[in-house]
Amino acid sequence: MFISRVENSDFMVLVARTTPFDKVEKKTDGISLFLVPLPQAEGLEFHRLEMMFNSQTYELFLDELKIPAENLIGEEGKGFRYLLDVLNPERILLAAECIGDARWFVQKSVDYAKNRVVFGRPIGSNQGVQFKIADAYAKLIAAERVRTRAAELFDSEADPKTVGEHANISKYLASECSWQAANVAMDVYGGSGLAVGNHIERKFRETRLYRVAPVSNNLVLSYIGEHVLGLPSSY
Ligand SMILES: Cc1cc2nc3c(=O)[nH]c(=O)nc-3n(C[C@H](O)[C@H](O)[C@H](O)COP(=O)(O)OP(=O)(O)OC[C@H]3O[C@@H](n4cnc5c(N)ncnc54)[C@H](O)[C@@H]3O)c2cc1C
Repeated sequence: MFISRVENSDFMVLVARTTPFDKVEKKTDGISLFLVPLPQAEGLEFHRLEMMFNSQTYELFLDELKIPAENLIGEEGKGFRYLLDVLNPERILLAAECIGDARWFVQKSVDYAKNRVVFGRPIGSNQGVQFKIADAYAKLIAAERVRTRAAELFDSEADPKTVGEHANISKYLASECSWQAANVAMDVYGGSGLAVGNHIERKFRETRLYRVAPVSNNLVLSYIGEHVLGLPSSY
């Protein structure tokens, strides 16, 4: 479910269990990665899904899909380890996208709050309006610092646990702050925020995705709880 840009991609990385659960020591063993040519692979059917924002998202059905042995990526059964190399930078990249969104929402809010005059003064002179924007800005700066640190750690090939901790925390903070900034912009714009054409409602719908994908924030908290803080596993 929810596989992006199938019709615009030449290949898909398929994650498959190649050794059954009861034959492996660790749950993460026995998973392999395969390169699948798109979109013409035989045994692969896909349908575009209508989402609440402009996205190219598909559901895929695999039925007797045959993949040549040479399309196995790396060693059989070691796929989960390779996947980790992709998941951390994906989270850092995603955090950067969220911070871009948050900056956009904050800037739009500032501009609107300076120019919209109600009862003879700009709405931005009211602390009820101003503090919300300032709070969103403060959180975006903090999230940006963590994102930069996560990218530095990844680039310097720090140990995977430290990279994982920072990549996950940066994804969490950045997606929460872009969602907060989106709501602030909606508030600051009043009725105009809901009007199609100001793009606030469009970006509001788009930035909501990041709390869910590519990993839901609950699962990020679960990672921090279990793998960073050493709390018992919840699943
Ligand atoms: C637009 C879009 C594009 C996507 N593109 C891709 C793609 O290209 N490739 C790809 O592989 N995936 C893609 N995804 C999938 C995406 O990674 C998943 O939707 C996301 O990881 C959430 O999984 P889920 O939808 O199965 O939700 P679920 O796992 O069903 O979760 C539903 C809710 O339950 C909560 N939850 C679940 N388990 C727990 C738990 N143990 N503890 C606490 N809370 C829990 C979640 O936080 C969430 O709030 C895409 C999704 C979207 C929406």
